Amino acid sequence: MRLRWRPAKMSLATKCRVLFGVSAALIIGAALFIQWQRLEQLTLELNLSAGRAVTRTEVARHVLEMSKPTTGAATRPARAAERLDFGELELTPPRLIGAAALEAMSPNDFEKQAFDRFKRRMERESYSTLIDSPRGQAFFYAEPLTITQSCLACHAPPPPASRVRAAGSLSPSTTAADSPFGIVAVRFPNQIPAKQIILNRIFLVAAGLLSGLLAIMILSFVISRLILRPVRVLQETAEKVSEGDLNIRARISSGDEFQRLSETFNAMLINLKRSADDLTAANRTLDMKMVALAETNVGLNEANRLKTEFLANVSHELRTPLNSILGFAELLRSAAGASTDAKVSRYIGNITNSGSNLLELINDLLDIAKIEAGKLDVRPSELSLPDLFEGLTALLKPLAEKKRLTIVASVASDIPIVRTDPARLQQVLYNLLSNAIKFSPEGERVELSAERAAGDRVKISVVDRGPGIDATHHTLIFEKFRQIDSSATREHGGTGLGLSISRELVRLLHGTIGVDSQPGRGATFWCALPVTLDLSDGQ
Ligand code: ADP
Repeated sequence: MRLRWRPAKMSLATKCRVLFGVSAALIIGAALFIQWQRLEQLTLELNLSAGRAVTRTEVARHVLEMSKPTTGAATRPARAAERLDFGELELTPPRLIGAAALEAMSPNDFEKQAFDRFKRRMERESYSTLIDSPRGQAFFYAEPLTITQSCLACHAPPPPASRVRAAGSLSPSTTAADSPFGIVAVRFPNQIPAKQIILNRIFLVAAGLLSGLLAIMILSFVISRLILRPVRVLQETAEKVSEGDLNIRARISSGDEFQRLSETFNAMLINLKRSADDLTAANRTLDMKMVALAETNVGLNEANRLKTEFLANVSHELRTPLNSILGFAELLRSAAGASTDAKVSRYIGNITNSGSNLLELINDLLDIAKIEAGKLDVRPSELSLPDLFEGLTALLKPLAEKKRLTIVASVASDIPIVRTDPARLQQVLYNLLSNAIKFSPEGERVELSAERAAGDRVKISVVDRGPGIDATHHTLIFEKFRQIDSSATREHGGTGLGLSISRELVRLLHGTIGVDSQPGRGATFWCALPVTLDLSDGQ
């Protein structure tokens, strides 16, 4: 999981205060730290110089004392052990401790440690430490004793014959110029009293806090005057604009970038207002056009309804006399019998043919009118496709025979009884078959077949070996009054309504219709229908 940093939700003023507070604390803290360190260093240096002065005085005193001739009972070792009395608290008298007499002089821990460090060259000049004791802070200071000429006067190594070595004498191994042969150590109270140190620290912290507080107060004031106030003005203006008030303007006269920002903001508002006004005007015009369009639409719908009604009425009214004309023409043909001369029987034939074409056109127009008016009912019932195919083949046989065509019908063995509107399906297949017959060359065959298709459907195909249809026309021919080639139409007849009626009927049966064809390779018109038509599924 990727963690994303999200800025905390807080006002600009709070952010400025928090950020500046933290930065001020850091800066002042760093400055105080340096001062603190400097104070500590000064204290140390004071103690070191005090230690240095005391120890060197003691060494000088020792050399001076030793160089005096011995008188009375004061022997040299006794004089060497003499010390200045500095009082108990103030100063532990400095001690000169020789390496040879280290144990004999019972050194304290600090002295042992100092001697050890000098011997191992861990410290060269001096060694010191500050220790807290119940009587206050004590500073321990030690310096190494290195051999000088004045030392050798008293501390020269004994002649080889002598077996016993004097307590203060140097061993041959310690006479090397740089190796310490002893230490001088002193302990005295911290030069700056503990109270003073605490007071210094308190002053330092108080100064830091005070300057931090002052800095925060000053910056808060500056930020609020220079930044927050103009930002607030801009924010309030923007809020009013978002509430829809485009007449408001941001008024900032700080003479800086904020003033320029407010001027730009105001210019944007002026443009916005202008665009909004234009938009309102355009909207008004659009509304008026919409109203006009809606009125036109209503008028068009009404006109369409009247046209459909007119079409349905006229078609119906035309069909009745036309049927009588066709009936009487048939009667005339049978009454005249074989005796009629060729001319009369050709006339009767013309009446029958033209009458049939006209009836077909009227029937198509009536169907279209009904479909458009939504008056075509669908009545599903069980249907056996083999029976339907047989009926259709018989019905179209005379038409096919005129062109010596064979209609071959086949139904796949897994096709069940279908539930659909038989009359509508028959009408569709009649259209497809009559087209196939119409466009097939003489002596060919037309195939009518049914097979199972995906999604519990039945696919019925009508295959012919006619001229075929270019892919660009595959959708076009299903539109009303669309015919590909008017010369072919003249040759074959037709209204251009058959396929569009078929498409509407197939849609009512919840199916799809289409064509697979290429020019010169015949055509396969197909429709895919649900095995069971369910009118309640609202398709
Ligand atoms: P029409 O009454 O003209 O046949 P249709 O809607 O049934 O009207 O067909 C529209 C057009 O589609 C036809 O004019 C024809 O150009 C083309 N068409 C239809 N069926 C075939 C077919 N089997 N072979 C070639 N073209 C066809």
